[in-house]
Amino acid sequence: METIAPLFISTGLTQALYAMGWTMVAALLREHRRTAWHFVGFCGFHAAALLLMAGRGSVEPWWSVTGSNLCLIASYLMVWRGVTAFFALEDQTRERRLVGLAAVLASLWIGPESEHTPWRVVVVSAVVVWTIVRSVMAVHHALKHEFGARLAWAIDGTALLMAVLLSLRALRVLLAPSPDTDIVSTTAAHPSFAYAAQIVSAFINFAYGGMLMARVMRRLDALSRTDGLTGLLNRRAMGEVLRDEWSRFQRHRSPMSVALIDIDHFKAVNDTHGHDVGDQVLQHVAHRLQTHVRPNDRLSRHGGEEFLLLMPSTDAAGAQRACQRLCHLIASTPVSTTAGPLPITVSIGLTSARPSDERIDTVLIRADQALYACKRSGRNRVMAL
Ligand code: GH3
Ligand code: MG
Ligand code: MG
Repeated sequence: METIAPLFISTGLTQALYAMGWTMVAALLREHRRTAWHFVGFCGFHAAALLLMAGRGSVEPWWSVTGSNLCLIASYLMVWRGVTAFFALEDQTRERRLVGLAAVLASLWIGPESEHTPWRVVVVSAVVVWTIVRSVMAVHHALKHEFGARLAWAIDGTALLMAVLLSLRALRVLLAPSPDTDIVSTTAAHPSFAYAAQIVSAFINFAYGGMLMARVMRRLDALSRTDGLTGLLNRRAMGEVLRDEWSRFQRHRSPMSVALIDIDHFKAVNDTHGHDVGDQVLQHVAHRLQTHVRPNDRLSRHGGEEFLLLMPSTDAAGAQRACQRLCHLIASTPVSTTAGPLPITVSIGLTSARPSDERIDTVLIRADQALYACKRSGRNRVMAL
């Protein structure tokens, strides 16, 4: 029997390299270590399955046939566990163990003899296809929720492609059973199956690797736009929002208003109760403001104890009402801290964009002047310019 063992050896070694890549991911990304280790398992078992397959004819049949099939099944059970861990979904260990046990019992019962090859192919393919379909079903909703439908299907599609390949192979064996259906023999369809499987298993690695990277990048992006203490947008992120809103104002002349909200005598809070209590006040004020601004408004931490509120599609009168409400909201209830409830007030400098304004900075400078006017005239108030 002529064989395509070298193809399986090269694919097996490629999988071993992927396993090394995933080991590096596990070492670097503490947060995703559990998922990455499962993918090390996927590639490791996959590599073992392929190398054992390549050894058919020279390695003990129990290992090269039954052993390689069990490794293949184990590799996809690893993917199933890895992806559910990634999305912190309900663990399906019981079902996975049952599938694993059924696969072991069926493999032992069928045995490595070549006259049983068609049966073996059908059973192993059915178990792997089941495993792939169940893992796709388990995470598809979460995948779609986090990355959108297109990316979810692209990632699931690669795993499902492998399921399709295995189903086709099982179907072919069922329709024309012959002992020559062993995977390493060079019957016309086998090399093409092996090449396709090689490509698809590479896709699977890139798809799941990409999924992990996409999450890491999104988290980093969110972190770079967020103020660490209050969880609000930071100044840089608000800069982008302001630029977008400013160009909309210039194009459509729809009104926009901007307010600078500054905590009164905040230094005294720090000086009297310590920096930690000052931080608590900042967090409480930020949270109270954020939960009471309107859904389209954007709030950021502009610096120290100062917040910036952007009110799109809001004219001067509407912005004045909204800011009066916020000013009253802060002053009406003391802020609870570990040093007890502290009465806090804010001063709000407000302005609206005008056609004569050349840049968004002109608007911000006017809001700052309005804030300064508040401070001079006694604080705990809203003043517009
Ligand atoms: P005014 O009513 O005129 O605004 O007086 P103020 O005391 O609020 O303003 P001032 O600018 O004198 O002091 C602001 C203080 O805010 C000084 C600074 O140490 C403090 N601060 C800035 N960032 C933080 C922070 O992240 N945490 C804490 N606890 N304090 C901060
Ligand atoms: Mg202040
Ligand atoms: Mg200030």
